[in-house]
Amino acid sequence: MVTQTKRDDGVWFQCEKCGLLLDDQIDAKRHEEACDAKDPTYFQ
Ligand SMILES: [Zn+2]
Repeated sequence: MVTQTKRDDGVWFQCEKCGLLLDDQIDAKRHEEACDAKDPTYFQ
């Protein structure tokens, strides 16, 4: 699931699988569909 993150420099969309931040929601969703990260270490 893509989560929306608001920062000083704008709104970002984050892939929950790998933690990647993208500035476009469609790109983020597309990335996540193709994302095969299984062990996200970003949130630890
Ligand atoms: Zn990802």
